[in-house]
Amino acid sequence: MILRSLGTFSFCLTVLMMPVLSNAQGVVSGSGPENRITILYDAFGKDASMRKDWGFSALVEVAGKRILFDTGDNRDIFAANVKAKNVDLTKLDFVVLSHRHGDHMAGLAHVLSANPTVKIYAPKEGFGIFGSSLPSSFYRKAEALPPDMRYFDGTPPEVMTFGSAWQGANFELIDKTTEIAPGITLIALVSEAPGTRELKELSLAINTPDGIVLVVGCSHPGIDKIIEAAANINPKIHLVAGGFHLVVASDDAISKIVATLKDTFKVENIAPGHCTGEPTFAALKQAFGDRYTYAGVGTALEVGSGAAAGQRRGEAPALDTDDLVSYRRLAAREDPFGLAVWRRRLANKEQ
Ligand SMILES: [Zn+2]
Ligand SMILES: [Zn+2]
Repeated sequence: MILRSLGTFSFCLTVLMMPVLSNAQGVVSGSGPENRITILYDAFGKDASMRKDWGFSALVEVAGKRILFDTGDNRDIFAANVKAKNVDLTKLDFVVLSHRHGDHMAGLAHVLSANPTVKIYAPKEGFGIFGSSLPSSFYRKAEALPPDMRYFDGTPPEVMTFGSAWQGANFELIDKTTEIAPGITLIALVSEAPGTRELKELSLAINTPDGIVLVVGCSHPGIDKIIEAAANINPKIHLVAGGFHLVVASDDAISKIVATLKDTFKVENIAPGHCTGEPTFAALKQAFGDRYTYAGVGTALEVGSGAAAGQRRGEAPALDTDDLVSYRRLAAREDPFGLAVWRRRLANKEQ
């Protein structure tokens, strides 16, 4: 049993009274019939009914909520995987788009075709594709100009709105870490890494009686920074799933992160996918042993009823030959991290 039951209401009360959890943020207040995270989109996996592609999406069913976290890289593949898992997109509590990269958003059009009014949480970014607004006082005025040379003839609206790439979609933009429902927090952090500097990313932290269940998209701000923010809600980190963005990291950097997760934050269970990277899968597998859960596309990570039939935990190796072949092929085709450029630069330096 890896992920124990979310517990009964009385257990929740007991947990709520424990000093370690007595903070301002809530704990999810009950367990639904299904508590699981289903991986709907990734570049490796064993489920023959699912298509593999570079990108990420997961259906998070915890505490009676159905949350779609990210929507994959290709609308058609996302639609096929959603169908294969019989996911009813009309019955979602909300969608979270972790960040504005295409390998996490391309299926949104399919979600909207089934459920046009669904609430979508996305990072608030100036002039971003999720839409934004600013008071018109933001730009300098030149009152002496004739009206036909001035914006809006010199009388701009008080608030200027800038469109989203999905006109009419029900976006709620998140600027800072926010508890959007009792026990459910969107952690908002900004990347400082070259290439994605200023990119804002949302991660989903659910405060269950077992500790934090944390779902991450690409971890551009740093998986350690995201877990640190989650530990501020509840220092007991029960599960971390998703992409850790260590796909081009050096062995040293990987070792440091793995040690931070295991020894500093004492992460209990780990279910890495997407941009975590092959050497990191191996390092995490070695460090976490049977607390490492295989999380390829089609996997349902049980959060509440223990290791369900078909759940692959602690099996070696982290990825087998088939997984490696598909993961490498898709990563190379998509080149989502500019690896080709990076390798060319490296080759030029060596010459
Ligand atoms: Zn990304
Ligand atoms: Zn990604």
